[in-house]
Amino acid sequence: MMKIAVCIKQVPAYSDGMMDPKTGVMLRDGLESILNVYDLPAIETALKIKEEVGADVHIFTMGPSKASAVIREAYSMGADRGYLISDKSFSGADVLATSYALTQGMKLVEDYDLILCGKQTTDGDTAQVSGAIAKWLKIPHVNWVTKIVGIEKDSITVSQMMEEEIVTLKIPYPCLLSVEPSIFIPRLPSLKLKIGSKKKKIEVLSLVDMEDKEEGNYGLAGSPTKVERIFPVHRTEQQKIIEKDSREAAKYILEVIENINK
Ligand SMILES: Cc1cc2nc3c(=O)[nH]c(=O)nc-3n(C[C@H](O)[C@H](O)[C@H](O)COP(=O)(O)OP(=O)(O)OC[C@H]3O[C@@H](n4cnc5c(N)ncnc54)[C@H](O)[C@@H]3O)c2cc1C
Repeated sequence: MMKIAVCIKQVPAYSDGMMDPKTGVMLRDGLESILNVYDLPAIETALKIKEEVGADVHIFTMGPSKASAVIREAYSMGADRGYLISDKSFSGADVLATSYALTQGMKLVEDYDLILCGKQTTDGDTAQVSGAIAKWLKIPHVNWVTKIVGIEKDSITVSQMMEEEIVTLKIPYPCLLSVEPSIFIPRLPSLKLKIGSKKKKIEVLSLVDMEDKEEGNYGLAGSPTKVERIFPVHRTEQQKIIEKDSREAAKYILEVIENINK
């Protein structure tokens, strides 16, 4: 039977999060959280494949303990098993450290035939975690996937939406796909599965479980990205209409931007 892993993330429900002014890390405590909407089509894709050819669908999320809520949501859609990658030393991770922890976690459980990710998240929004996971695992990665054309025994054929054309690709397993929201309309959670999901086990994978136990490779310590300065956007209703020719307007805009950072 095919083994599929789906990576999903819990994100703040709104974009006005509080930031730690020193570290530039989002302070998520107290914020309402939801499942990243772009990850719902990834779960749906896995479930459609499961219905068509049979598959074991495993969910992976990295986050604090409350992130287990998104795994329960995936259970109520039909996912089989869920893994929460969680440890104090995993917090404050950038793309490199996030993708590394997810890769380490997945490697502990199975050699997956197919890994599915969403297009991007609504908080970090880098759209790079999926590519980075594929790089760690040394497997092919296809993004902007809009259609599953065929599921074969040792490969999958998909449509990829490029800027001006649609490309059809046949990719051997193991591989990673980042799916576009248009690929499938996510199903609503089933009441029966929702009730069952409350009792379903979620396995927690922490630093002690990982093959690489070096704390410095995870979280803030393992993140080369350093946020230099972070500040809330000052919202104002004020409007100024300035009329200038294009060169003068460009000069003026540059001055305004330079002054923002002073
Ligand atoms: C203000 C601020 C600035 C930041 N700047 C940077 C920066 O410049 N560079 C940088 O590398 N990081 C940065 N980060 C960290 C970043 O936001 C993320 O925490 C981390 O890099 C994950 O990437 P993403 O959210 O952009 O995911 P994306 O790459 O947008 O997500 C793509 C897909 O990967 C999967 N995925 C992503 N995260 C998880 C997860 N935790 N668990 C399971 N699946 C997941 C999902 O399928 C998702 O749809 C910043 C954070 C903040 C708060």
